[in-house]
Amino acid sequence: MHWNIGEVTVTKVLELEVLGGSRFVLPDATREAVMPIQWLVPHFADAEGRLRMSIHALLIRTPKLKVVVDPCLGNDKKDRRVPGWNERQGPFLKDLEQAGFSRESVDIVLCTHLHVDHVGWNTMLVDGQWQPTFPNARYLFGRVEYEYWKEQHIREDARPVFEDSVRPVFDAGLADLVETDHRICDELRLTPSLGHTPGHVSIEIASAGQRGLITGDIAHHPCQLARPHWRASPDCDPDQAEATRRRMFRDLCNQPVLVLGTHFAGPTAGWVEPDGEAYWLRTEAKQ
Ligand SMILES: [Zn+2]
Repeated sequence: MHWNIGEVTVTKVLELEVLGGSRFVLPDATREAVMPIQWLVPHFADAEGRLRMSIHALLIRTPKLKVVVDPCLGNDKKDRRVPGWNERQGPFLKDLEQAGFSRESVDIVLCTHLHVDHVGWNTMLVDGQWQPTFPNARYLFGRVEYEYWKEQHIREDARPVFEDSVRPVFDAGLADLVETDHRICDELRLTPSLGHTPGHVSIEIASAGQRGLITGDIAHHPCQLARPHWRASPDCDPDQAEATRRRMFRDLCNQPVLVLGTHFAGPTAGWVEPDGEAYWLRTEAKQ
């Protein structure tokens, strides 16, 4: 699945898609509460109100660079809270290669934030050691985000993720710390979208008069367009996260900006349209 934004292409590589079981992420999104939001069916929810969510990476190809955004959960990881996220043996790297992104060819790896489902393939297990998956890439980490998780890594749930998926990249000398408004190249720029985590960023794409935005986890599911006050339990600062979400939806509404969701299932991308006091995601291009 891929999209063109001017001279930039974005390709989705899926690691995992699930139906239901999202209550631990969005506790307000009960089946009864989801069912009235009818435009979510069939792509983002089923008729019984169960949400579809996905974990995927987005591959960006600009005229000069190959960029991997949010490299998912990874294989062989241990000590993850969600049982199915441990000891995975998925075909992610094969899928990447099929999309024209061999490990050696990747120029930049970018994590919108340092949660477990956004950093996994930063590293791979080689002879019992965690090594950077992309040996010729620069890995861009937000300075604020990195410093926060470095402090937090004494926390039992955060430590394994930092140790197996972030630290080895620094040890190998492949990491660059950047600010939340960092410009990567002519077509790509970070923009701060704080709250889900302290240094969370989204990615603006602009090329040949066309625009796109990779959300990161400012919204975990399109139902939050209809219900911006529905909060995600992993939000570090829920008030700030909600304010960011409302500001971004308002700014994106009725704009020709293709919004690419980091956990949006199925079609994954669309345009923000007004719907009463809130919004909906139009996934078909206008005729
Ligand atoms: Zn996430």
